[in-house]
This record gives sequence, C-alpha cells and structure tokens, in this order.
Amino acid sequence: TTYTPAPTRYDGMTYNRCGNSGLKLPALSLGFWHNFGDITPYEHMKQLVFTAFDNGITHFDLANNYGPEPGAAERNCGRLLHEYFRGHRDELIISTKAGYEMWQGPYGDWGSRKYLLASLDQSLERLGLDYVDIFYHHRPDPETPLEETMGALAQAVSSGKALYVGLSNYDGPTMEKAAAILQEMHVPFIINQNKFNIFDRRTAENGLLDSAERLGKGVITFSPLQQGLLTNRYLNGVPDDSRIKADGRFLQENALTPERLAQIRALNDLAADRGQTLAEMSVAWLLHHPAVTTVLVGASKPQQILDNIGALKNTEFSDDELRRIDEIAAG
Ligand code: NDP
Repeated sequence: TTYTPAPTRYDGMTYNRCGNSGLKLPALSLGFWHNFGDITPYEHMKQLVFTAFDNGITHFDLANNYGPEPGAAERNCGRLLHEYFRGHRDELIISTKAGYEMWQGPYGDWGSRKYLLASLDQSLERLGLDYVDIFYHHRPDPETPLEETMGALAQAVSSGKALYVGLSNYDGPTMEKAAAILQEMHVPFIINQNKFNIFDRRTAENGLLDSAERLGKGVITFSPLQQGLLTNRYLNGVPDDSRIKADGRFLQENALTPERLAQIRALNDLAADRGQTLAEMSVAWLLHHPAVTTVLVGASKPQQILDNIGALKNTEFSDDELRRIDEIAAG
C-alpha cells in the first residue's frame, strides 16, 4: 500500500507554542506507550498513525522501553516512518526518552551519562533516524548528580542527535534546578512531560505547572484520560477490547472501584450537559490550563483519535463547571 496524507491535514488542528521556544506542537499529540508493541497488528498501527497525521497530529511520542517487548514501539515506528513518511520527516516531531529500565546491568536504567547516551544511540537505530526532535530524561534519578544527567542531554543536542530536550516526571523545584544547569550550557530545554488529568492532580500540586509557566517551558500531559477511565469505556462493564482486558500491564480492573465508577458517571453527565463526551471534556479541561501546550493521548482505535480531537470545539469552562469537576474529582 501507499499512503498519501490528506491535503486538508493542517486545516482543523490548533498549534500551540511550546513555552517560549520556537517550536509549535499540535494541541493533541499521539503516544506510542500502548498499541504499538508486537502484540498489535502492524495494519492496525498504520490506521492509527494515518488518522493522526491526516488530522494534523504532527507529534508522535515514544520511549526506549515502549512495547511490549521494550524497544518494539520504536522499531515499529521506524518501520512506519520508513515505509510511509519518508517524504514527511520535516513535518513530524518524534520524541523519545531514557530513564526507566531498558537493559540488564547497572548501565541500562536511571540517569547516568553512560545510560542516556547509549540508549539514545539505540533508539535512533530502532527508529531508523539520524536525530529525534525531542530527547527526554524519563524520570528523575535521586542518586545521579543533576549536572551529569543534564550534561548527557547537552551532549545529545551538541552531537546533533536531538534538536530539543525535555524532562519527564520531575517536580517543580527539581525541574527548576535542572533548568538552571541546562540554561548555563545553552541547551534548548523546552518541554516537561507529566501526568495530569481530572483525577490526577500531582503535577499541579508539586509545583511543576507553576514552574513551567514561570520559566516559559512547555508542558505535555500524559495519560490525560487516566488510561481510558475518563471516557465512556467502562460505563457499562469492562469491554473485551479495552485496555483493562486486552493489555492489563498498567491498568487493572481493581481501578474500577464503585466510588471511581460513581465519579466517572457524574463527570459523564456533566460532559453531556456541555454537549461533549467525557473524553472530549477531559481533553478540553487540560487545554483550558494556560500551562498546557499539548495533550498526549493514547488510542487503540482511529475513531478515538477523531473523538479526542473533537475536544477542540469547546475548551471554555464556566467557573461553576470547573468547581463541579473539582468536587467530583475530590470524591
Ligand atoms: P490516555 O489516558 O489517553 O489513555 C489512552 C486509552 O484510553 C486508549 O488506549 C483507549 O483505551 C482509551 N481511549 C482513548 N480515547 C478514547 C475515547 N475517545 N473514547 C474511549 N476510550 C478512549 O493515555 P495513555 O495512558 O495511553 O498515555 C498516553 C501517552 O502518554 C503514552 O502513549 C505515552 O506516550 C505517554 N506516557 C508517558 C509516561 C511518562 O512517564 N512520561 C507514562 C505514561 C504515558 P482502550 O484500549 O481501552 O480503547
């Protein structure tokens, strides 16, 4: 098969400046954590990325360990890029990360210079690319000096293997320390990747959002739908093709407590009053925060990508709606 991207692909998407940087990112980005490993048919992955790109999603987010097996998502992405996007590399923002366990022994995990630079070379090989657009440290390492980890990110850029760098899962104060080191080295650190959604407010509570806004850094929010809980997916039981049933590595049925389900139902009603699906309202709620650059959704079906883009039709909230969402989320 051949693929010709839709000529209309830039017509409906909004592009937001990533902090004070020169880079603009689509309001929605596509994550490769699930649905791009070797348990998903290649044909299916094709439909997901074609739908995303045809609708203006120019940013694909990966990590060294995404699979299963670890490395498989980058390998599959590399194949997709090679087979279908060769003429479009300069329209795409490809990110990857290192920071979680990737290979055995003391050099395949956390935040050493040894690990990060070796891992980036491995990622580029799997992706079939000369450079990634964004290279992240995936999680803070309490044992490695920040200077060392940031020095590795600096080298990723100076060696031409990454255009920009990002930090993931850092809190506000640690990010500010890292940012000062990176600034001294003139490294283009432009983005933070953190979990943030209606149910999970830690990124607001640990100062990251405020720090990012103050320093002019972008924010990309992961698991915006709490892995599918903040949608209509589980309103009537657990479908066979849902993440809980089909790939329960990180989301299990015990997440669906009666209290959680009651919250999901109440939020679903509120979304309906706004004329939105719960997925749309959940994405819109993130975009209404001024600190948020782009919402990093996952999708097991092309239609979910289209539904989530539908959030852009209404990202305004009344004070009353915001208060109601906070009340429901607080339980
Ligand atoms: P989401 O919270 O968006 O969950 C995605 C899942 O929700 C889908 O796979 C699908 O599940 C369901 N879903 C999505 N849209 C809809 C819809 N419109 N209606 C109904 N169900 C829907 O995000 P993820 O948890 O997948 O995370 C997104 C990305 O964030 C990852 O791919 C990764 O790139 C990044 N990430 C980064 C981390 C980090 O540490 N930096 C950690 C985790 C994620 P179903 O299979 O049930 O259809």
